[in-house]
Amino acid sequence: MPGYIIDLDGTLYAGTEPIPEAAPFLAKLKEEGSPYLFVTNNSSRTPEEVARHLREVARIPAEPEDVLTSAQAAARYQADAAPGSRVYAIGEAGLLRALKAAGLVLVDDPAAEPPDAVIQGIDRAFSYAKLHAASAAIRAGAAFIATNPDLQLPTELGLTPGSGSLAAAIRAASGREPVWIGKPSPIIMDYAVQKLGLPPGEIWVVGDNLRTDIAGGLAAGCRTAWVLTGIAAGTDPDEQMRSAGVRPEAILRHLLDWPDGA
Ligand SMILES: [Mg+2]
Repeated sequence: MPGYIIDLDGTLYAGTEPIPEAAPFLAKLKEEGSPYLFVTNNSSRTPEEVARHLREVARIPAEPEDVLTSAQAAARYQADAAPGSRVYAIGEAGLLRALKAAGLVLVDDPAAEPPDAVIQGIDRAFSYAKLHAASAAIRAGAAFIATNPDLQLPTELGLTPGSGSLAAAIRAASGREPVWIGKPSPIIMDYAVQKLGLPPGEIWVVGDNLRTDIAGGLAAGCRTAWVLTGIAAGTDPDEQMRSAGVRPEAILRHLLDWPDGA
């Protein structure tokens, strides 16, 4: 049985609306005994919150162990590089909990306690003071790790600034490029592949975003299925693939629309 690395928003649900094919698709994977993992660039929620959202919104029986967030991957990356190191975090509960769970030590005032790394995710309380603290720490030698490059997030309010837009401010102020963790980075994809325990060629990466899900799947050597829901809904697929410069192995109108033999 192949394994599946499955995107969340736009693939299993759209904001607070379920995508109707998601629950029967997951039921089919469970019945076949196919292993799967939900992988999200959203660093704001804990795996428990992600699983609850999946249960309540997408009506999928998800558990925290079925989830890998960019916050968890960023925490693991820093904990592997420097176990127990000191981190200045810019982010929300999902990131802060993941860093502590990985045994990293959070510092509140990087000017007083120089951190080994600045780790940044989405932070809806981002401020000039945080930007100043982060850029000063990075210029003083701290590593710069960003959970994900998404510049904008589609919400009920239209497009809102994503984590990548905050990273852009820190890049400008520090003069340094971050290590990117989330999709399409091979860092999160490799962790996801390891967690499934299958060779990449036996794993389908499924998602609605060519530039993150599909590009990440291709970079990791996985099979790729682009589903035309979420941000891909109502767009011209050929035009999208041309502009992204990314070609998935399969294009699905919805999650139950797999080509024969896949
Ligand atoms: Mg998506």
